[in-house]
Amino acid sequence: MAMNRKQWRKYIKKTRRKKIRQKLAQHRDAAEAKAEALRLADPDYVMYLREREQLERMASEWEEERRRFENALWLDREKEAQSLFAEKRQKLEEEQRDEKEKRDRIRKEFEEMEMKAKAAKAEKERLLQEFLKKQQERERMFAEYLVGIDDHLPVLRESSHSRPDRNPCVFFGKVGACRFGVRCSSDHAIPGLSELLLLPNFFAHPALDHQQHPEYGLDSSIEFDDDELYRSYTEFFMDVIEEFESFGPISGFFVTRNFEPHLRGNVYVQYEKVRDAAKAYQRMNGRFYASKQLRVEFRAPIVWTAAVCGLFERSRCQKGKSCNYLHLLVNPVAKYRYDHFKELQSARQSQRQSQRSQLIERSWDDVDIPAKQRANWRWSETPEVEQPSHKSRSTSTTSGLRKNRSRSRESADSSRNRSSSSRRSRSRNRSRHRSRERDRREEKQKRHSRSRSRSPERKKSKTKKKKRNRSRSRSSRTSREKSKKKSTK
Ligand SMILES: [Zn+2]
Ligand SMILES: [Zn+2]
Repeated sequence: MAMNRKQWRKYIKKTRRKKIRQKLAQHRDAAEAKAEALRLADPDYVMYLREREQLERMASEWEEERRRFENALWLDREKEAQSLFAEKRQKLEEEQRDEKEKRDRIRKEFEEMEMKAKAAKAEKERLLQEFLKKQQERERMFAEYLVGIDDHLPVLRESSHSRPDRNPCVFFGKVGACRFGVRCSSDHAIPGLSELLLLPNFFAHPALDHQQHPEYGLDSSIEFDDDELYRSYTEFFMDVIEEFESFGPISGFFVTRNFEPHLRGNVYVQYEKVRDAAKAYQRMNGRFYASKQLRVEFRAPIVWTAAVCGLFERSRCQKGKSCNYLHLLVNPVAKYRYDHFKELQSARQSQRQSQRSQLIERSWDDVDIPAKQRANWRWSETPEVEQPSHKSRSTSTTSGLRKNRSRSRESADSSRNRSSSSRRSRSRNRSRHRSRERDRREEKQKRHSRSRSRSPERKKSKTKKKKRNRSRSRSSRTSREKSKKKSTK
């Protein structure tokens, strides 16, 4: 490298300064070494050095100790933290496990539920299919019956019950309809086939709509009078009766004008023959009349005298719109017109006739037999009448007679008079009856005492017999009254 003069001089100076510095340093070191040597020669200094060394060692030892201690402390803490962590982790695991179990359980339950629902659905489907099959079968049998085959008549006649385990509904039995409908807690029995058809709510008229005005609380039916109702009914009757007559002879056609919804505009059609009713059912059920679909149901025979409100016929029904007996519309032509009091009279007459024939056929002794029962109503061990057994009460004729006898003798006699021969003069009859009655009583007494002496049990009841005699000596009327009281209790 070529250097110019200036640079050269600079370099020379630099090296010179360096040499000087080095020389000075050498001197200084030498001086220091000398001083050190001098100092080392001093025993105090040596002592000082030794002490310092010792101190330094102690310090380092202490430091070491401290470090060990801290380390141990750290280890302790670490251990603690580790255990804490482990605990936490265990807890977490447990929680997770629980959660999983819970989830599994829920899933299992859900699956089970689903299975059950599936099974229920399948069962429902099966039942539905069964029902449809039965229905089809029934329809087939019904169709066969309509063309004159009577093979399935017993099956077709079978009643369907809404609640077979309950008592029959009184109202349904009486009028063929019940205000509770299918929700009724009693049993509604609907025959599969019968002469009587019911078309619920078939006849409709605004006058029968029992609705309260929301603001005025007035009946909306007020504006309609009976004339309007009957005009409408006549039209309806003429329209409908021909259709129903086309299936066969009818013996009754009654339409209700009640306000209660389950009796409003109900049409009862009674055929003379079941097959005609079946034909009408087949044709009319589900058909439309004045854009209203008809529902036709069979009903068990109705006792009209018990179902129709007789007071309404005389326009004296107190219950008005809430009456539960049938209020019938009067049919416009004389056909199938229902006269409640005529019906009632004829029903009573036939009842009376049957009663009379029963009484004529039986003599008193016939009616009273068996003797055991007879002993119950008047003969007894005490002034009180023995309670008759329930079985003996169940026969209607004997119970009726017994009731008569428990009354005062006059009334009993008079009732008998009426039933046997009312044409005889009453007083003669009465005296004759009295004497006859006395004779009979004596005879009975004899018979009774005979039967007593025969039975071994009776021997020990001698005292009782005495008592009985005594009691009989009392006025018979008071004892009878007493017994009556007891029986009513
Ligand atoms: Zn009911
Ligand atoms: Zn009434």
